Amino acid sequence: MKSQDLHDRHRSALPRWVTTYYEQPLHPVSATGRTIIDAHGRPHLDFFAGILTNSLGYGVAEFRRALDRQLDTGIAHTSTLYLIDAQVRLAERLAEQSGIDDAVVFFVNSGTEANDTALLAATCHTGGNHVIALTDGYHGRSLTSTAVSGLPGWQPSPYSPFHVTFASNGRTSPDGEEHPPEDPVADLEARLAGLAPPAALIVEPVQGLGGFHTPPTALLQQYARIAAQHGAVLICDEVQTAWGRTGRAWWGHQLHQLKPDVITFAKGIANGLPLGGVIARREILDSVPGKSISTFGGNPLACTAALATLDHILDHGLQRNAEKTGQILLAELLRLSGAHPHLRNPRGQGLMLAVDIADPHTGRPDSGAAVAHVEACRANGLLIGIGGRHGSTLRIAPPLTVTEEEVAEAARILAAAAQHCAPTSA
Ligand code: PLP
Repeated sequence: MKSQDLHDRHRSALPRWVTTYYEQPLHPVSATGRTIIDAHGRPHLDFFAGILTNSLGYGVAEFRRALDRQLDTGIAHTSTLYLIDAQVRLAERLAEQSGIDDAVVFFVNSGTEANDTALLAATCHTGGNHVIALTDGYHGRSLTSTAVSGLPGWQPSPYSPFHVTFASNGRTSPDGEEHPPEDPVADLEARLAGLAPPAALIVEPVQGLGGFHTPPTALLQQYARIAAQHGAVLICDEVQTAWGRTGRAWWGHQLHQLKPDVITFAKGIANGLPLGGVIARREILDSVPGKSISTFGGNPLACTAALATLDHILDHGLQRNAEKTGQILLAELLRLSGAHPHLRNPRGQGLMLAVDIADPHTGRPDSGAAVAHVEACRANGLLIGIGGRHGSTLRIAPPLTVTEEEVAEAARILAAAAQHCAPTSA
């Protein structure tokens, strides 16, 4: 079978730690709207938007026309040493949207690189080499970004370029196994006393891989105040939360009325083309010494894709759609959780929604049952994600173009999975 053969070759050609979803990984061959067709011709509603990358979904005519216009010039890429019209236009637009005074933008290829660059700039700007990050955060897979990622299992490097203080994300553990400090603010202040000044506080406005948890606004604001008092810059990692995905706001940090010094972004900006970047006050990015470019960062095709994606989100009111369809989906998750005690703590913002899978009696996270739910959904034509501290959280994040009919269909499939996969003690 073709997909099986590809799976075998994938396993032998790629490192052991490259994760694929599903016992038999999906092999997409085409897609349109929110639907991916696999190599067997089966349709799947994509309620994970790639990995929150495909903001618009698939086969969007305006998006394709914008890419075609760029490709018609004969240039997919020359060099970021030359002037690139789309790069400059995108930088101007993002700087203006960011609300950061005197903002400049540096483009890279991924969220990891964006956070690396932000931490480098914060370190150069402040002279500090200490970073405050949140428990259960995820900021990427490099030496630097794994060091500040507080999610267990995603910190492969024993080497850290920084001293990192992990502050509580303010959530109490669902299973009572963890013991967050009673007063997280006092705890952070006490742990910073006597340490070198921090260069940065880095936060996700809604934690992504950590399970779509929204840290309490009051806590984030107090952490931001403490960081500022210590001379640290505030980096908001908006890799998952920007461009209206949270429904109520264009940027995730607006949910908390934060005023970041630095914003990092990637994932959904270019509807699936690789593009990331850093937006920051000029003095912060300018403090990086020497001369530098990113070979592909700011590539004309990716920047054209980003401009077309942002246009489409704004022209079609997709932030409002995220809020509306997100509320419908959240109501469905609440209803399902009422009917199935193993579905815990439905939550989320806009189209970043999650529910934990746990033993209905003990509340202990059940990652095996979560995987079973994800497989059952896939078998019935729905793709969702998984995550959380214990790998027991179902994550749901369709493209911002999702329709109410598709939400109803997804809810039906989720209900069937909940019925079918309830842990035996339920
Ligand atoms: N930051 C956040 C919040 C993320 O969710 C991710 C990826 O999931 C990253 C950074 C790293 O991005 P990338 O995988 O593009 O390097």
